[in-house]
Amino acid sequence: METKAVKEKSLEDGRAAMAACYQGFDPAAYLQYNYTPPRADFCRRDSIVPWKLGCLHRAFTEEDITGGVLVDVGSGPTLYQVLSGCEVFERLVLTDFLEVNRRELRGWLQEQGKSSLDWTPYLQHVCKLEGRGVSAWSEKAARLRAVVSDVLPIDVHCPQPLAPGALPSPGADCLVSSFCLESVSPDLDAFTRALGHIGGLLRPGGHLLLIGALGESFYLGGPGVQIPVVPLDEAQVCGSLRESGYTLIRMEVYTLPPDMRVGVDDVSGIFFVKARKD
Ligand code: SAM
Repeated sequence: METKAVKEKSLEDGRAAMAACYQGFDPAAYLQYNYTPPRADFCRRDSIVPWKLGCLHRAFTEEDITGGVLVDVGSGPTLYQVLSGCEVFERLVLTDFLEVNRRELRGWLQEQGKSSLDWTPYLQHVCKLEGRGVSAWSEKAARLRAVVSDVLPIDVHCPQPLAPGALPSPGADCLVSSFCLESVSPDLDAFTRALGHIGGLLRPGGHLLLIGALGESFYLGGPGVQIPVVPLDEAQVCGSLRESGYTLIRMEVYTLPPDMRVGVDDVSGIFFVKARKD
Protein backbone atom coordinates (compact mmCIF):
# COMPACT_ATOMS: atom_id res chain seq x y z
CA MET A 1 0.00 0.00 0.00
CA GLU A 2 1.19 3.51 -0.92
CA THR A 3 2.24 5.45 2.18
CA LYS A 4 1.10 9.06 2.66
CA ALA A 5 4.68 10.28 2.11
CA VAL A 6 5.02 8.35 -1.18
CA LYS A 7 1.68 9.69 -2.37
CA GLU A 8 2.64 13.27 -1.52
CA LYS A 9 5.98 12.87 -3.29
CA SER A 10 4.28 11.62 -6.46
CA LEU A 11 1.75 14.51 -6.32
CA GLU A 12 4.61 16.98 -5.96
CA ASP A 13 6.50 15.35 -8.88
CA GLY A 14 3.39 15.62 -11.09
CA ARG A 15 2.96 19.32 -10.27
CA ALA A 16 6.65 20.04 -10.82
CA ALA A 17 6.55 18.28 -14.22
CA MET A 18 3.57 20.43 -15.28
CA ALA A 19 5.28 23.61 -14.07
CA ALA A 20 8.37 22.66 -16.11
CA CYS A 21 6.23 22.24 -19.27
CA TYR A 22 4.93 25.79 -18.80
CA GLN A 23 8.41 27.33 -18.80
CA GLY A 24 8.31 27.33 -22.63
CA PHE A 25 4.82 28.92 -22.87
CA ASP A 26 4.79 31.67 -25.52
CA PRO A 27 1.81 34.05 -25.10
CA ALA A 28 1.97 35.50 -28.64
CA ALA A 29 2.10 32.06 -30.28
CA TYR A 30 -0.71 30.72 -28.07
CA LEU A 31 -2.90 33.70 -29.02
CA GLN A 32 -2.12 33.16 -32.70
CA TYR A 33 -2.99 29.42 -32.52
CA ASN A 34 -6.30 29.82 -30.69
CA TYR A 35 -7.58 33.37 -31.01
CA THR A 36 -7.40 34.08 -34.77
CA PRO A 37 -9.56 32.53 -37.57
CA PRO A 38 -10.81 29.88 -38.02
CA ARG A 39 -11.16 29.50 -34.22
CA ALA A 40 -12.05 33.16 -33.79
CA ASP A 41 -14.15 33.86 -36.89
CA PHE A 42 -16.92 36.30 -35.93
CA CYS A 43 -18.77 35.70 -39.23
CA ARG A 44 -19.34 32.05 -38.29
CA ARG A 45 -21.67 30.94 -35.52
CA ASP A 46 -19.91 27.55 -35.38
CA SER A 47 -16.50 29.06 -34.68
CA ILE A 48 -15.10 28.32 -31.21
CA VAL A 49 -14.70 31.86 -29.85
CA PRO A 50 -18.22 33.11 -30.77
CA TRP A 51 -19.62 29.97 -29.12
CA LYS A 52 -17.72 30.68 -25.87
CA LEU A 53 -18.65 34.38 -25.91
CA GLY A 54 -22.33 33.45 -26.39
CA CYS A 55 -22.25 31.09 -23.37
CA LEU A 56 -20.63 33.76 -21.16
CA HIS A 57 -23.02 36.46 -22.36
CA ARG A 58 -26.08 34.31 -21.52
CA ALA A 59 -24.72 33.34 -18.10
CA PHE A 60 -23.96 36.93 -17.09
CA THR A 61 -27.32 38.30 -18.26
CA GLU A 62 -29.54 35.78 -16.44
CA GLU A 63 -29.41 38.10 -13.41
CA ASP A 64 -28.67 35.41 -10.81
CA ILE A 65 -24.93 36.23 -10.88
CA THR A 66 -24.46 39.30 -8.73
CA GLY A 67 -22.03 40.80 -6.26
CA GLY A 68 -18.93 42.94 -6.19
CA VAL A 69 -15.91 40.75 -7.00
CA LEU A 70 -15.20 38.57 -10.03
CA VAL A 71 -12.00 36.50 -10.24
CA ASP A 72 -10.67 34.96 -13.45
CA VAL A 73 -8.60 31.87 -12.61
CA GLY A 74 -5.67 31.19 -14.98
CA SER A 75 -6.36 34.10 -17.32
CA GLY A 76 -3.33 33.31 -19.47
CA PRO A 77 -2.73 36.08 -22.04
CA THR A 78 -6.47 36.35 -22.87
CA LEU A 79 -9.28 38.78 -22.06
CA TYR A 80 -12.30 37.39 -23.98
CA GLN A 81 -13.51 35.45 -20.91
CA VAL A 82 -14.18 38.64 -18.90
CA LEU A 83 -15.78 40.85 -21.57
CA SER A 84 -19.33 40.10 -20.35
CA GLY A 85 -18.56 39.82 -16.62
CA CYS A 86 -16.80 43.20 -16.53
CA GLU A 87 -20.21 44.88 -16.97
CA VAL A 88 -21.71 43.13 -13.91
CA PHE A 89 -18.89 43.46 -11.35
CA GLU A 90 -17.25 46.51 -9.84
CA ARG A 91 -13.96 44.71 -9.21
CA LEU A 92 -12.25 42.16 -11.45
CA VAL A 93 -9.11 40.24 -10.49
CA LEU A 94 -7.11 38.59 -13.29
CA THR A 95 -4.68 35.83 -12.34
CA ASP A 96 -2.04 33.59 -13.89
CA PHE A 97 0.79 31.29 -12.88
CA LEU A 98 3.26 32.80 -15.36
CA GLU A 99 4.76 36.28 -15.27
CA VAL A 100 4.90 36.36 -19.13
CA ASN A 101 1.10 36.10 -19.20
CA ARG A 102 0.58 38.65 -16.43
CA ARG A 103 2.87 41.02 -18.36
CA GLU A 104 0.84 40.47 -21.53
CA LEU A 105 -2.37 41.37 -19.66
CA ARG A 106 -0.80 44.43 -18.05
CA GLY A 107 0.35 45.52 -21.52
CA TRP A 108 -3.26 45.75 -22.72
CA LEU A 109 -4.48 47.31 -19.49
CA GLN A 110 -2.10 50.26 -19.91
CA GLU A 111 -3.95 52.24 -22.55
CA GLN A 112 -0.93 52.90 -24.76
CA GLY A 113 0.67 49.60 -23.80
CA LYS A 114 1.65 46.76 -26.09
CA SER A 115 -0.61 43.79 -26.80
CA SER A 116 0.09 40.70 -28.91
CA LEU A 117 -3.52 40.49 -30.12
CA ASP A 118 -6.01 43.14 -31.22
CA TRP A 119 -9.02 42.56 -28.95
CA THR A 120 -11.20 45.07 -30.84
CA PRO A 121 -13.24 42.47 -32.82
CA TYR A 122 -13.88 40.62 -29.53
CA LEU A 123 -15.07 43.80 -27.81
CA GLN A 124 -17.27 44.62 -30.82
CA HIS A 125 -18.79 41.12 -30.90
CA VAL A 126 -19.72 41.21 -27.19
CA CYS A 127 -21.20 44.72 -27.62
CA LYS A 128 -23.39 43.28 -30.38
CA LEU A 129 -24.50 40.42 -28.10
CA GLU A 130 -25.44 43.05 -25.50
CA GLY A 131 -27.59 44.88 -28.05
CA ARG A 132 -25.26 47.87 -28.17
CA GLY A 133 -23.81 49.13 -31.43
CA VAL A 134 -20.35 47.85 -32.34
CA SER A 135 -19.14 51.43 -31.85
CA ALA A 136 -19.62 50.93 -28.07
CA TRP A 137 -16.48 48.74 -28.10
CA SER A 138 -14.26 51.57 -26.85
CA GLU A 139 -16.60 52.15 -23.87
CA LYS A 140 -16.35 48.44 -23.06
CA ALA A 141 -12.56 48.60 -23.30
CA ALA A 142 -12.58 51.58 -20.90
CA ARG A 143 -14.94 49.71 -18.54
CA LEU A 144 -12.67 46.66 -18.53
CA ARG A 145 -9.59 48.77 -17.85
CA ALA A 146 -11.43 50.54 -15.02
CA VAL A 147 -12.68 47.44 -13.17
CA VAL A 148 -9.51 45.33 -13.25
CA SER A 149 -7.99 45.98 -9.85
CA ASP A 150 -5.15 43.44 -9.90
CA VAL A 151 -3.26 40.94 -12.05
CA LEU A 152 -2.07 38.37 -9.52
CA PRO A 153 0.05 35.20 -9.42
CA ILE A 154 -1.96 32.01 -8.78
CA ASP A 155 -1.30 28.30 -8.32
CA VAL A 156 -4.43 26.15 -8.42
CA HIS A 157 -2.49 23.20 -6.94
CA CYS A 158 -2.09 25.06 -3.64
CA PRO A 159 -4.93 24.76 -1.11
CA GLN A 160 -4.74 28.56 -0.96
CA PRO A 161 -4.20 29.50 -4.64
CA LEU A 162 -3.85 33.29 -4.11
CA ALA A 163 -1.73 35.18 -1.57
CA PRO A 164 -3.52 35.68 1.77
CA GLY A 165 -5.56 38.89 1.84
CA ALA A 166 -5.87 39.12 -1.95
CA LEU A 167 -9.68 38.91 -1.74
CA PRO A 168 -12.28 40.18 0.77
CA SER A 169 -12.90 37.64 3.55
CA PRO A 170 -16.13 35.95 2.37
CA GLY A 171 -14.41 35.34 -0.98
CA ALA A 172 -15.26 36.29 -4.55
CA ASP A 173 -18.89 36.43 -5.71
CA CYS A 174 -18.08 34.69 -8.98
CA LEU A 175 -15.18 32.78 -10.59
CA VAL A 176 -14.54 32.40 -14.30
CA SER A 177 -11.94 29.90 -15.49
CA SER A 178 -11.27 28.83 -19.06
CA PHE A 179 -9.01 25.99 -20.22
CA CYS A 180 -6.93 26.19 -17.07
CA LEU A 181 -7.61 23.30 -14.67
CA GLU A 182 -7.43 20.41 -17.17
CA SER A 183 -4.35 21.85 -18.86
CA VAL A 184 -2.33 22.25 -15.65
CA SER A 185 -3.30 19.01 -13.87
CA PRO A 186 -1.34 15.77 -14.28
CA ASP A 187 -4.47 13.61 -13.80
CA LEU A 188 -8.19 13.62 -12.97
CA ASP A 189 -7.56 13.57 -9.20
CA ALA A 190 -5.41 16.70 -9.47
CA PHE A 191 -8.13 18.36 -11.62
CA THR A 192 -10.74 17.59 -8.93
CA ARG A 193 -8.48 18.84 -6.14
CA ALA A 194 -7.79 22.05 -8.10
CA LEU A 195 -11.55 22.61 -8.45
CA GLY A 196 -11.79 22.30 -4.66
CA HIS A 197 -8.87 24.69 -4.13
CA ILE A 198 -10.39 27.43 -6.32
CA GLY A 199 -13.72 26.87 -4.54
CA GLY A 200 -11.94 28.23 -1.45
CA LEU A 201 -11.73 31.59 -3.27
CA LEU A 202 -15.52 31.69 -3.73
CA ARG A 203 -18.14 32.67 -1.14
CA PRO A 204 -20.85 30.07 -0.39
CA GLY A 205 -23.66 30.55 -2.95
CA GLY A 206 -21.21 32.21 -5.39
CA HIS A 207 -21.10 31.11 -9.02
CA LEU A 208 -18.47 29.27 -11.03
CA LEU A 209 -18.37 29.60 -14.83
CA LEU A 210 -16.01 26.93 -16.08
CA ILE A 211 -14.97 26.43 -19.70
CA GLY A 212 -12.72 23.55 -20.67
CA ALA A 213 -11.52 21.04 -23.20
CA LEU A 214 -13.09 17.62 -23.76
CA GLY A 215 -11.05 14.64 -24.92
CA GLU A 216 -7.83 16.62 -25.14
CA SER A 217 -4.44 15.02 -24.35
CA PHE A 218 -2.12 17.89 -25.35
CA TYR A 219 -1.93 21.43 -26.70
CA LEU A 220 0.84 23.61 -28.05
CA GLY A 221 1.90 26.42 -25.73
CA GLY A 222 4.36 27.68 -28.38
CA PRO A 223 6.47 26.28 -31.22
CA GLY A 224 7.54 22.78 -30.13
CA VAL A 225 6.07 23.27 -26.62
CA GLN A 226 3.70 20.34 -26.14
CA ILE A 227 1.73 20.61 -22.88
CA PRO A 228 -0.10 17.51 -21.58
CA VAL A 229 -3.81 17.82 -20.73
CA VAL A 230 -6.12 15.51 -18.72
CA PRO A 231 -8.58 14.14 -21.29
CA LEU A 232 -12.02 14.76 -19.75
CA ASP A 233 -15.53 13.66 -20.62
CA GLU A 234 -18.76 15.32 -19.50
CA ALA A 235 -19.46 12.75 -16.76
CA GLN A 236 -16.02 13.27 -15.23
CA VAL A 237 -16.50 17.06 -15.16
CA CYS A 238 -19.89 16.63 -13.44
CA GLY A 239 -18.43 14.13 -10.93
CA SER A 240 -15.49 16.42 -10.10
CA LEU A 241 -17.83 19.38 -9.56
CA ARG A 242 -20.02 17.34 -7.19
CA GLU A 243 -17.02 16.01 -5.28
CA SER A 244 -15.60 19.53 -4.92
CA GLY A 245 -18.72 21.11 -3.42
CA TYR A 246 -20.53 22.65 -6.40
CA THR A 247 -24.10 22.21 -7.65
CA LEU A 248 -24.33 22.09 -11.42
CA ILE A 249 -26.83 24.55 -12.90
CA ARG A 250 -26.18 23.68 -16.54
CA MET A 251 -23.62 22.28 -18.92
CA GLU A 252 -23.42 23.14 -22.61
CA VAL A 253 -21.23 21.19 -25.03
CA TYR A 254 -19.68 22.21 -28.35
CA THR A 255 -18.25 19.68 -30.81
CA LEU A 256 -15.41 20.93 -32.99
CA PRO A 257 -16.21 21.04 -36.71
CA PRO A 258 -13.42 19.34 -38.73
CA ASP A 259 -11.94 22.63 -39.95
CA MET A 260 -11.39 23.87 -36.35
CA ARG A 261 -8.97 20.96 -35.84
CA VAL A 262 -5.94 22.96 -36.90
CA GLY A 263 -3.16 20.81 -35.40
CA VAL A 264 -2.39 22.93 -32.31
CA ASP A 265 -4.09 20.40 -29.99
CA ASP A 266 -6.24 17.27 -30.19
CA VAL A 267 -9.36 18.70 -28.51
CA SER A 268 -12.63 17.13 -29.65
CA GLY A 269 -15.12 19.36 -27.83
CA ILE A 270 -15.58 22.13 -25.30
CA PHE A 271 -17.79 22.28 -22.21
CA PHE A 272 -19.31 25.32 -20.57
CA VAL A 273 -20.51 24.90 -16.98
CA LYS A 274 -22.55 27.21 -14.80
CA ALA A 275 -22.43 25.98 -11.20
CA ARG A 276 -23.01 27.28 -7.68
CA LYS A 277 -20.84 26.70 -4.62
CA ASP A 278 -22.80 24.74 -2.00
N1 SAM B 1 -7.58 31.19 -19.80
C1 SAM B 1 -6.79 31.26 -21.03
C2 SAM B 1 -7.64 30.81 -22.20
O1 SAM B 1 -8.87 30.69 -22.04
O2 SAM B 1 -7.10 30.64 -23.30
C3 SAM B 1 -5.47 30.49 -20.91
C4 SAM B 1 -5.58 29.02 -20.73
S1 SAM B 1 -4.00 28.21 -20.92
C5 SAM B 1 -4.49 26.75 -21.76
C6 SAM B 1 -3.64 27.58 -19.29
C7 SAM B 1 -3.14 28.66 -18.36
O3 SAM B 1 -2.93 28.09 -17.06
C8 SAM B 1 -1.83 29.29 -18.78
O4 SAM B 1 -2.00 30.67 -18.85
C9 SAM B 1 -0.86 28.92 -17.66
O5 SAM B 1 0.12 29.90 -17.40
C10 SAM B 1 -1.79 28.73 -16.49
N2 SAM B 1 -1.22 27.85 -15.44
C11 SAM B 1 -0.19 26.97 -15.53
N3 SAM B 1 0.01 26.36 -14.34
C12 SAM B 1 -0.90 26.86 -13.49
C13 SAM B 1 -1.18 26.65 -12.10
N4 SAM B 1 -0.50 25.75 -11.38
N5 SAM B 1 -2.17 27.36 -11.54
C14 SAM B 1 -2.90 28.25 -12.26
N6 SAM B 1 -2.68 28.50 -13.58
C15 SAM B 1 -1.69 27.81 -14.18
